[in-house]
Amino acid sequence: MKILTVVVFIICSIKQLSLAEEVNVFSSRHYDSDIQLYEKFTAKTGIKVNVVSGKDKALQKRIIEEGANSKADLYITADAGRLGAFDRDGMFQKTTSSFIEKQVPKTLRSQNWTGIAKRARVIFYSKERVSDQEINGLRYEDLGNKIWKNRIVIRKSDNIYNQSLIASLIHNNGKDKVNKWLNSFISNFARSPKGNDRAQILAVAAGEADIAIANTYYYALMLSGQKGEEQREAAKKVSPFFPNQNDRGTHINISGVGILKNSPNSDNALKLIEFLLTKEAQEHIVKNTFEYSILENVRSHELIESMGDFKQDLDTPVAEFINHQADAFKLMLISGWK
Ligand code: FE
Repeated sequence: MKILTVVVFIICSIKQLSLAEEVNVFSSRHYDSDIQLYEKFTAKTGIKVNVVSGKDKALQKRIIEEGANSKADLYITADAGRLGAFDRDGMFQKTTSSFIEKQVPKTLRSQNWTGIAKRARVIFYSKERVSDQEINGLRYEDLGNKIWKNRIVIRKSDNIYNQSLIASLIHNNGKDKVNKWLNSFISNFARSPKGNDRAQILAVAAGEADIAIANTYYYALMLSGQKGEEQREAAKKVSPFFPNQNDRGTHINISGVGILKNSPNSDNALKLIEFLLTKEAQEHIVKNTFEYSILENVRSHELIESMGDFKQDLDTPVAEFINHQADAFKLMLISGWK
């Protein structure tokens, strides 16, 4: 009887040990819903997920400073330009597998990081002051045309979403053309750039400008009422428009993740990434963040679906953004984009 008790005790201890498996996620995404997702992962695998959330700069600084002693396994953040820059600093290790390659289109990942959700950077125009004739067929490249004089709002040039957008234009059109275009584009600004993406939509609603450039999920967030009644009403005054439908498609960016160079639990880290790319997890993500799924067979949130289908630029590799990021920022500053 005593021996049996000891055996049972040992078996339980071994089980406990395997339950002590963990993965440490450093995330600049601040969604309460991500926690529910990690709980599902733990229920499935027994791997505990510890989350450190914070602003990108602070998280990156901590990971770099802790060096080989860092407990961070994964870094989750928005924008391929940001992932690309951290990768260029040598902070990631190989983050790929046959499952990742199967789930994620080639243009939405690199060797050392992968997209887990998509977003588009689009136009929101005033229903009152922009005509169908003006908006139909519009490309990013047309936003330098004189008819948009004093009518455009967009946030500052230090914003990574803008840098990635301009980097994609450089990739597709070349530096010289983008340089010329930037000068006319900036001369069409209705005000000196300020505020976040939602502030641009608010500016159009308030009549300060006719066109805002912002990411798709912010519009849905405003329409959802989660940011208050005033923002919901403002969002109702604008319409979304997807540029470049007659050529390469609308600029697409990602939220993504990479396994860190000094990750102590890299096997678990890969398991968590693969979980995030399952249909179940993708459905959870898009429902809560208003992003687009990486997978084709996952429907977006209804507020996002109501914006309509559109042609996404999935030919431009998001991993290209980092290759043009320095040029993009330099040209933006030279052109006078504050
Ligand atoms: Fe954002």
